[in-house]
Amino acid sequence: METAEKKRVVLQGKQVKKYFPVHAGLGRPNHYVKAVDGVDITLHEGEIYGLVGETGCGKSTLGRTLIRLLDPTDGVLEVLGKDITRIKEQDMTELRRNIQMVFQDPYTSLNPRQKVGEILTEALEIHKIGTKRERLDIAMEIMGKVGLRPEHFYRYPHEFSGGQRQRIGLARALILNPKVIVCDEPVSALDVSIQAQIINLLQDLREKENISFLFIAHDMSVVKYVSDRVGVMYLGHLVEEAETEELFQNTRHPYAQVLLSAVPSPDPKVKKERISLEGDLPSPMNPPSGCVFHTRCPYATEACSLVIPSLKEVAPGHKVACLLYEDLNTVQE
Ligand code: SF4
Repeated sequence: METAEKKRVVLQGKQVKKYFPVHAGLGRPNHYVKAVDGVDITLHEGEIYGLVGETGCGKSTLGRTLIRLLDPTDGVLEVLGKDITRIKEQDMTELRRNIQMVFQDPYTSLNPRQKVGEILTEALEIHKIGTKRERLDIAMEIMGKVGLRPEHFYRYPHEFSGGQRQRIGLARALILNPKVIVCDEPVSALDVSIQAQIINLLQDLREKENISFLFIAHDMSVVKYVSDRVGVMYLGHLVEEAETEELFQNTRHPYAQVLLSAVPSPDPKVKKERISLEGDLPSPMNPPSGCVFHTRCPYATEACSLVIPSLKEVAPGHKVACLLYEDLNTVQE
């Protein structure tokens, strides 16, 4: 694709925070789970942005917050240049047309009592688009785009395989002609061969329809294959971001280096040394001070427990949040 910087920004989050209150009893919350804690992220037109990190790092919460399926605790959200941070639910209709979501398990997100045709035309009906005949034609066209056959229109979700159900999920997301689709682990429940089919389909849709995808996954190999840019999350923070090739060739952040060391090389003669990570992921209810990775980082110094590193550009388009790349005389405690 064209260099992302030249393209229009379709989705942006500035210093996005999402805290979940924890109540020990009645009354005010006494703790907060800091699922997302000050993330800056930008998605460009026609771009596939891969968001990775281990389970519990906050990537799914960030994806849902960016499109206002969850209300942010703080920060600013913009879709197509419009501030949607505090927009009321009744004013969200246009927004919902432009941004859609595809879930990991399409089966639980599809109504088992509705036939595929009803699932697809329902969104058009809600948005008062077309006559009954026109809605049927639109649904048939979308089904063709995702590789479903006309006879599938009259079948129920349980009659399909996992890969086909994910095609139905994609068709439902596409039917309103959105600009952005957030895909939350869309292939992790599928067999490898089916994963490849769905990923190729996403890339095809990006090429033909110029749709932007936020592709959330924990599998670095999948993200490497599908994404134009990649962001790595750890404990609610974005710790590294770059174009895919740059990120995989010049990985800077110690946590990203651990994740990438687990990706097998396509060349069987190349042996990669896998870096293992000590300790468990700390609780987001009580994250470590300073750099949140310092309790597990092999390069941590005393400063790392005191100073919060900010996401800084270390090469064109390549940003890292690590004190190894900062001048400690200029950082704020
Ligand atoms: Fe490791 Fe310190 Fe960099 Fe954090 S700031 S990743 S603890 S070296």
